[in-house]
Amino acid sequence: MLNISNDQNGKIICEYVWIGGSGLDLRSKARTLTKADSVADLPIWNYDGSSTWQADTSSSEIELVPVAMYDDPFRGKPNKLVLCETRVNSNKPTPGNFRRFARQLFSEENVKTHNPLFGIEQEYIISKRNKEGDDWPLGWVDGKKPTEQAYHYCGVGGKNVHGREIADAHYKACLAAGVGIYGINAEVCPSQWEFQVGTTSGLQLCDDLWMGRYLLQRVAELFGCDINFHPKPFEGLNGSGAHTNYSNKKSSEDKDMVETTKQIESLEKYHKRFMQLYGEDNNKRLVGAFETSSYDKFKYGVMDRSASIRIPQTTKDKGNGYYEDRRPASNMDPYVVCSLIFSATCLDGALIDDIEESYREFQKRRDEKMGKGH
Ligand code: MN
Ligand code: MN
Ligand code: MN
Repeated sequence: MLNISNDQNGKIICEYVWIGGSGLDLRSKARTLTKADSVADLPIWNYDGSSTWQADTSSSEIELVPVAMYDDPFRGKPNKLVLCETRVNSNKPTPGNFRRFARQLFSEENVKTHNPLFGIEQEYIISKRNKEGDDWPLGWVDGKKPTEQAYHYCGVGGKNVHGREIADAHYKACLAAGVGIYGINAEVCPSQWEFQVGTTSGLQLCDDLWMGRYLLQRVAELFGCDINFHPKPFEGLNGSGAHTNYSNKKSSEDKDMVETTKQIESLEKYHKRFMQLYGEDNNKRLVGAFETSSYDKFKYGVMDRSASIRIPQTTKDKGNGYYEDRRPASNMDPYVVCSLIFSATCLDGALIDDIEESYREFQKRRDEKMGKGH
């Protein structure tokens, strides 16, 4: 690229980004546009859904509907990244499109009334392919699982921290793109990191988290690395979660935790159902050890890192504020998780049945298309 002119003759490269059929694979492709000042300028596009586990070869076309726009930190200004919803035949969303529920729940009116605010802590492991072509965490001795993880959390030094260049380049890419990133830190398991997005209102936060995941994989690609979002890649070591910090009007204006406790108790009521929707293989992570709660039993408490919902000391002291749902897995869909939490605590459970049904439909289709044990 070095000797190629940067003169784009007034044209803009727009990279359309969407979620594929596994519910976690991100895809993207680019096109030239002459105007991209706002999402309204961006045309609907399409792709071959039979190559993303989302359609049959006989009727393979899936539509890309632009919903949010970011600056492209790789190609630079004026080029854009365009987050899209996917739908089949103009009006039917694809089974994995859960943004459609978030869009309804986080309507202008609901946001104004309840002021739902979120901050999500996205954990992940950086991996690199070994000689056999298998993914293996960056910096680990090939084929050998570390026996301790004492010095890695927020650590320094070549023995303890692997992939800082990637985590840091991702941080800068998020800022340049306009993703609302809050911070980063090295995590407990060697080669594990975390980035946080927020504090932001629901729908925008979900969009930012997905774009943050996309940028992370694009940055890792530049280093020949990959990002592992599995919640428990290795037995005996810390898994990866997506702690979801949350407040709303009632919890922020609460006195002596009365309303906040009511909200947490509504979350308890839904515990078994939500656990089905908080990420795949989360039961392997939530084992009650390694700073996690139990998959089967709901528990809440102040400062308790083995609780399902943790109440920060500051919230307890003030009698109001935010609380943390520690259950969501690193591979969860924020459109699902934020919708469920908001609905259970502020909207009398609106759309929860529909999200549940749609999730089962999505899982069934995914397993059919990708095969068992994908
Ligand atoms: Mn954290
Ligand atoms: Mn963490
Ligand atoms: Mn946390």
